[in-house]
Amino acid sequence: MAEYTLTILGSNSAVPAHDRYPTAQFLKHKQSSFLIDCGEGTQFQLNKYHIKRGNLNHIFISHMHGDHYFGLVGLLNSFKLNNRQHELHIYGPPELDAIIRLQADYTDAQWPYPIFFHPHSFEGVEVLMENDSIRVHSIPLKHKIPCNGFLFREKPKLRKIVASSMEKYGVHHEEILAIKKGGDFVAASGEVIANALLTEDSSPSYSYAYCSDTMYDEDLVQYVQGVDVLYHEATFKSDSEDKALLRFHSTARQAALIAKAANVGQLIIGHYSAKYKKLDELLTEAREIFPNTELALEGKVFDIPAC
Ligand SMILES: [Zn+2]
Ligand SMILES: [Zn+2]
Repeated sequence: MAEYTLTILGSNSAVPAHDRYPTAQFLKHKQSSFLIDCGEGTQFQLNKYHIKRGNLNHIFISHMHGDHYFGLVGLLNSFKLNNRQHELHIYGPPELDAIIRLQADYTDAQWPYPIFFHPHSFEGVEVLMENDSIRVHSIPLKHKIPCNGFLFREKPKLRKIVASSMEKYGVHHEEILAIKKGGDFVAASGEVIANALLTEDSSPSYSYAYCSDTMYDEDLVQYVQGVDVLYHEATFKSDSEDKALLRFHSTARQAALIAKAANVGQLIIGHYSAKYKKLDELLTEAREIFPNTELALEGKVFDIPAC
């Protein structure tokens, strides 16, 4: 299985319809797991697709519309009932913290595991979290209320060791990490062996950008330029462009225009209006502008980068 994958848990907008759930996505990167938005029913979807929660330590909530967080309190409560002990980090609008606390205040006890809440500032791009191999930035979106997208970008990877050179130059095991980081090697004879003789270029670093909910906004292009996979909401078809504008949402065509302008590798569209039972017309509309477009559908797993 690929080490960087996205699973769609919920693909619909405001109300559940046509077997589609409100928005939630599960992103796995090596040993880390990230939940992106947590619409109602998210934990049922985690169960349905046999997704383990043990490494789920970071939850990102884009904004305070209920279709993006109504599943959160239920999930937190299940963590409690499952005797979770380790810490959980939640990144979201400041108001969300109050809701989480209130829920605990009105029941019998506080959350029995540490919850660290990290409020978004909604002022430009912020680094929200990072570990050794990935960094997560906010993406400013234009919606009816303050809303952030999220950019998951792998950090530059270590150079690859050329195995035959290790023996040839007498490199010891404890010196390998410094060489992978780009250092030269001083042989026992005192000769300096250039890093280029010991290593090959590292693998590329891949990125995933999540943009929901937003009106059509060309300012977005600069933030998602060249990402490998872009998720962009497509609540409506083009014939409802006026409605999209009024509600601060986008059409499938507009999502594709952003993907094309930003020269991304693949576009995933989602956050569909409940008025669409079938989604093929949204897909066709987007593909006319940006051919490498796919539909977000419950249970679908995307590799990052796209194969
Ligand atoms: Zn929404
Ligand atoms: Zn919204």
